[in-house]
Amino acid sequence: MPDAPSSSQSPAVRAVIVLAFMFLLAFSFREVLAGWLGLCQGTLLSPSLRRALCAQEIFSGQRALHHVQAQLKQGDRAPGSKGNAAVAEYIRANLEGQGWSVQEQSFTYRDTMIRNIIGRTNAGRGPVIIMGAHFDTRHLADRDTAHPEQPVPGANDGASGVGVLLELGNVLDLEDVPYELWLAFFDAEDNGGIDGWEWLVGSEYMAAHLSVTPEAMILVDMVGDADQQIYQEANSDRDLAAQIWTKAAELGYGQEFVPTQQWSLLDDHIPFIRRGIPAVDIIDFDYPYWHTTADTLDKVSASSLERVGRTLEAFLERPASP
Ligand SMILES: [Zn+2]
Repeated sequence: MPDAPSSSQSPAVRAVIVLAFMFLLAFSFREVLAGWLGLCQGTLLSPSLRRALCAQEIFSGQRALHHVQAQLKQGDRAPGSKGNAAVAEYIRANLEGQGWSVQEQSFTYRDTMIRNIIGRTNAGRGPVIIMGAHFDTRHLADRDTAHPEQPVPGANDGASGVGVLLELGNVLDLEDVPYELWLAFFDAEDNGGIDGWEWLVGSEYMAAHLSVTPEAMILVDMVGDADQQIYQEANSDRDLAAQIWTKAAELGYGQEFVPTQQWSLLDDHIPFIRRGIPAVDIIDFDYPYWHTTADTLDKVSASSLERVGRTLEAFLERPASP
């Protein structure tokens, strides 16, 4: 055999070269690979691994739905319940895992310990924007003719908003967000009228104890309905609502974000509006399972959560204007 160029290399050296080449190839295409395998959208990778592997952090409806599921596992999450405490802990752990600094705002109301969980990031980067959702659920399904004595599962009414905020906290490219951001998870929104309880107990407390005046407050509540139509809520700030609905339309969600007003609601945005803070309630109130035992996981869809999440992501991530 005449000399071949490879004859000077042992099989081991060749194997190392081939392996190194494959590694380089995999490394260069890691984003593509992870994308193909669906890893960037799933829950398999840890946040840090995902940041290393995936091209761009984009809101995933699947991951938000996973947060909804995790909350439902805790059963009744009414103020003072075991499930309520477990979900508060779940929220705290998730926020801390994503690098947010977390504060628990607790107080006693009618002999019950109430706690809001507040995550903060981008301190001092710009005006404060508060994104809010309630994590408690209604203790009695009083609109359920068959089971009015049972608790509301709260897949949509409670868990959907929390799911959206937690996933948002996970994917926001904070360097593109020109605000100091607070994610506020309110307790005791939803037991109004039961045993003399008021509505909005947690958000009222937070709004009354603000150390700064936020530029805006954006609430997400009941945003996961698979049959999604989000009208503008009539008590909300019109300019702010128009900006958010325009962003949704730009993303192709014009069918689901309907730019006309429908309901006028008492929700966690009201305590902020009363104090002169522009606030918007993003809520899909046409939901037949509201305050019934049928407000379950099967009514909530990943795509609905994703439309809301991606709209807020696009709204918040705006590089400083030229
Ligand atoms: Zn409710």
